[in-house]
Amino acid sequence: MIVVPYTRLLDETREAVPEARFVEVEPEQGYRELLAELWRRGEAFTLVEHDVVPTRAQLAELGACPEPWCHYGYFPGHWIPVFGCCRFSAELIAGTAGAWGDPSWHWGQLDARFAQHARARGWTPHWHSPHVRHDAEFNFAGRSARVEIPDRLLLDLAERERAAVLASLA
Ligand SMILES: [Zn+2]
Repeated sequence: MIVVPYTRLLDETREAVPEARFVEVEPEQGYRELLAELWRRGEAFTLVEHDVVPTRAQLAELGACPEPWCHYGYFPGHWIPVFGCCRFSAELIAGTAGAWGDPSWHWGQLDARFAQHARARGWTPHWHSPHVRHDAEFNFAGRSARVEIPDRLLLDLAERERAAVLASLA
């Protein structure tokens, strides 16, 4: 199952995962509440955020990976388990019960908060590469036009990663 919580859904995201369950969420608490609901359900799923565009190959790789907690980065420098495109196994969900009960967790911090919660319980995230494509302009300026990632922003990536990101933009 793929779940896409959204407040503003990018067309390319919808096209990238047409089989997903798209859930419009209330901007402040809706994302956390949806995750709480999915945790209560307890089934493995892949989370794709509303401005992230994974390829089919990237989704298949997450689906096939035996690790319990898998993620892609989406912004240069991301090696942390951000929620742009992330897979949660049923074991991880069961092992991190109660993660979503704190309404003080801001929607923009949910991934970092969850990582802290899960690591404290012995879970380790598994990073996949290359990064998924993220519509930076849509996210930061509220417009739907796609922008290329400026080359200078890629400088902090390892060379192998940088080449992969550039190839994905070509
Ligand atoms: Zn993995």
